[in-house]
Amino acid sequence: MSERVENVICTFCGCLCDDIIVEHDNGKILKVLRACANGQGHFREYDPSPRSPRLRGKEVSWEEAYAGASAILRESHSPLVYGLSSAVTEAQRRAIEFADRLGAVVDSTSSVCHGPTGLAMQGVGEPTCTLGEVRNRADLLLYWGCNPAASHPRHFARYSTAKGKLTPEGRRDRTMVIVDVRPTAATKAADLFLQVEQGRDFEVLAALRALVKGRPVRGESIGAIPREILISLAGRLKSCRYGVAFMGMGLTMTRGRDLNVAELFSLVSDLNDYTRFSVIPMRGHGNVAGADQVTTWQSGFPFAVSFAQGYPQYGPGEFTAVDFLARGDADAAVIIASDPVAHFPRRAADRLRTIPTIVLDPVESLTAAEATIWMPTGVAGIDTAGSSYRMDGVPLRLRPFFKAARPSDEEVLARLIEEVRR
Ligand code: SF4
Repeated sequence: MSERVENVICTFCGCLCDDIIVEHDNGKILKVLRACANGQGHFREYDPSPRSPRLRGKEVSWEEAYAGASAILRESHSPLVYGLSSAVTEAQRRAIEFADRLGAVVDSTSSVCHGPTGLAMQGVGEPTCTLGEVRNRADLLLYWGCNPAASHPRHFARYSTAKGKLTPEGRRDRTMVIVDVRPTAATKAADLFLQVEQGRDFEVLAALRALVKGRPVRGESIGAIPREILISLAGRLKSCRYGVAFMGMGLTMTRGRDLNVAELFSLVSDLNDYTRFSVIPMRGHGNVAGADQVTTWQSGFPFAVSFAQGYPQYGPGEFTAVDFLARGDADAAVIIASDPVAHFPRRAADRLRTIPTIVLDPVESLTAAEATIWMPTGVAGIDTAGSSYRMDGVPLRLRPFFKAARPSDEEVLARLIEEVRR
């Protein structure tokens, strides 16, 4: 007899869409409604049946896997704990505790996406709002260096073009401006698309800040955008009723990085002298926003933290996983719900291949396939419970609809902490 479950949360990306409908029968998903292609894959490609851990390519019992992990951690003098962004908040908490007990470096995927956003936030603050406010109030949307049509496919439909309390006509009640280095699938939806020259976002943002404050800006164009267009944009930004800026890795991972983001945050802050304006970073992984929150509660810093001295030390560029691995400093790694072998630069990925690794992941990723030990865990929101933070910092509770046949990340980490204590 099939069962229909409503209001399921998809944890694939930072949108955390909470209106998904899943029909399943006897542990098999039959239908997934409302999810985008990424969300469909998230639900349909996960097989929740029990799986045995693997130690050096051979299936072993969970007890043998824990003993193997314990042996690796006993031998290690400089371990790395990395990932976290697709794990739930409860597991992230355990991961920080685990790193603290190990004297390890702990870092999340934030360091390769929105780490510079965290640095900018610490420097100038982040004037932000919730996605509910975007839906109900925003009449001007500014997207900078991001392509939601590809990265967060339901974002436009759920927030930017949706009808809200003060935007009853939906898309017709909003102006959409996109700034990017090239046309993308998202730019087709914009009222105004500005193509900025690669690496010159900071100058354009600085010029906009000057224009918003009524100061003169010299030159016919700035970052390949005609000055007259920037003057007109500054006027639109000041005269909207409720503006929201969304920014992505086109700002954080290009020349200027945290300086670009700080300039955007400052522009948004300046605009609040004239109207209501907010900014939301478009966070990629389902709980990467939670990884920053939890690491900050537990250690005082959002990512790139070392516990090697017995207290937390913050070191972007030093304790960020790519740098820590590429320098050859890590001698063992615990990877939680992420796939660095597939995504890291070659030197860092090669180092990961040469040291013992323990991987907690529901699916056999490239990193899991090459790991010394792979521990197949459950997926929160499908067969285990937990909470995740949406990209706007709102925490949501995930309810499983399958009976768990695998341990959760949190349970595995709790057991690993016990092993370390012993
Ligand atoms: S937009 Fe993101 S959260 Fe929503 S269904 Fe698609 S992948 Fe899932």
